[in-house]
Formats: sequence, structure tokens, C-alpha cells
Amino acid sequence: MGNMKIRVGVSECLLGHSVRYDGGHKHNPYITDTLGQFFDFVYVCPEMECGLPVPREALNLQGDPAAPRMITVKSNIDHTDDMNRFCKARIGELKKEDLCGFIFKSKSPSCGLYRIKIYQDSKSRFRSGRGLFAEVFVKSFPLLPVEDEGRLNDAQLRENFIEKIFCYRRWKDFMNANPDYKKLIDFHARQKLQIMAHSTNHLAKMGKLTAAGKAISPDRLFTDYEVNLMEALSLKATVEKNVNVLHHIIGYFKKLINTNEKKEILEIINLYALHQIPLIVPLTLINHYIRKYKVDYLSRQTYLQPHPTELMLRNHV
Ligand code: SF4
Repeated sequence: MGNMKIRVGVSECLLGHSVRYDGGHKHNPYITDTLGQFFDFVYVCPEMECGLPVPREALNLQGDPAAPRMITVKSNIDHTDDMNRFCKARIGELKKEDLCGFIFKSKSPSCGLYRIKIYQDSKSRFRSGRGLFAEVFVKSFPLLPVEDEGRLNDAQLRENFIEKIFCYRRWKDFMNANPDYKKLIDFHARQKLQIMAHSTNHLAKMGKLTAAGKAISPDRLFTDYEVNLMEALSLKATVEKNVNVLHHIIGYFKKLINTNEKKEILEIINLYALHQIPLIVPLTLINHYIRKYKVDYLSRQTYLQPHPTELMLRNHV
């Protein structure tokens, strides 16, 4: 990965570009100023890029929830075919952009990922679905981390999403560097605790997969591994799961640390388990012991630094 910024797609209005139906934007400073230090944004405004002007009449979704139509709210003009044509062409272009994630604008009939209203026969009857572009996007990139900007306000969802983006970048770097069975074993060894923090079931499954890997074709092995990795990281790393990983880590140096050090780290893990201090606190102490006692296996674990410290994603209680 080096110092290269990670390429992440974003709904264009979130960058502060005036592309919305009302001529305005929905600038999200967390995206541009904080994430922008690490991500290189590839922006898309489906409504403008499919040929609609700025400003324009507002649109909504109507009809069959499995294949809704995109219709202007007042004049009843159907823009579904224009939007579908645009989506097909733009997805083809985005496949060449080396994306590791996408941040969608919430509540949009084009970009909305979750709970977008699909009106049935009146304003009061609707079903929930996705915006048209978001729907085509997630079907075309099923493993790519995606999130709705509104949900980035939730500290745990935010951490999970950003962690997944950095992990996906590592996976792509692995696949770009002549992957083989031996390198996969090494890759897996480094991600183990991170996977454990999300899903012990996936960790067990991936352990079996890598152990049997020599008997599987490399293409199948890498594809199955990628699916499991991204599935695992989609499950939340809760406080309870992190506590389990922290205790597991202690097991690696419990014979190296003295009684006082052990007491101190266990007390701190307990405070974290009680939601009184953030995860960064026990991890800082653990990192100190790993350096002090030179525990090589642990020092290579992505769990200890899955994303840049500056993002402060593990500083919430
Ligand atoms: S929500 Fe999507 S379609 Fe609407 S203005 Fe933003 S980028 Fe464009």
C-alpha cells in the first residue's frame, strides 16, 4: 500500500460540489478533511451524469420494489431508462478505478443504500429499497465495502467500514503481487486476530480453507478466501469480541511479563469490558509490551493497527 492514497468512490454532492436537484450540495467535512487525508475520491453524481440538469425537478421511486421506476415528483416524467443506461456504462468505467470502497449519499432515489422509499399507489404507501445507482453498484461489486454517509456518524459502524476498506486494500495488494499458497498462509497469519475480532466462525472456516489450500486450485482458493475475509469483516467487532482477542494476546506474553504488569493489563482490559475506556487504551499498553518483549508473531498482526492511528477510530467508548 505504501503512502499511496486508497481510491474510494463517493456520491459527488458529499464533496461539496453543487450537483443536487436544488442546486446545492451536502458537503461532509469528515469525508473531505479527515478521510481525504488517506483516500483519493472518485466521485459520481448519477443524476447529473445521466443527463439531468442542475437544478432539476426532484425525483422519487415508484412501483414494483424489485424494479422501481424513477419519476419526477410533479411532472411525472420517467427517467428510469436514462438512469439504467448510465449505470451500466459508469459501472464499466468504475471497474477500472481500483476502488476499495464507496460512500453513498443517504435518502437519495439514485444513491441511497438503505431504506429508500418506493411509493406504491399513494404518498402514504411505500416499500423500502435502494436507489437505482446504489442497487446496480452493490450487485456489480458484491464484496466492496459500501456505506451510507449518515451511518458514518455511528462510531462503531464508521470504524467497521474504514477497517474493511484498509483490509480490502491489503488484500488487493496481496493479489497484485504474484500470490501463491505460501504467501496466502503468511497473509492469513497476519490477519488472524483481526478476523477473530469479527467472527471466530469465519476464522475457523478460513483456517480449514488455508490448511486444505494445496489441494484446491489457486483461483478457487483465493476467491473463497476473499469472500470469507470480507464476510467476516462485515460482522461487527463488539466489545465482547475484542475482549476475547485481548485475552488471547495476553496468552502470548503472559510468561514474559511480571506479576504487576499482568495485573495492570488485566485491570485495563476489564475497564474496557465495562465500556469505561476505549479500545485504544489496552492496545497501547499491549503494543508497549510487544515492543518491550519482542513478541514477533504479535508485532505483525494487522489487528494492532488496522488503520492509521490519526483517524482515532478506536478512541470511542
Ligand atoms: S445524491 Fe447522488 S444523485 Fe443526488 S446529488 Fe448527490 S451524487 Fe447526485
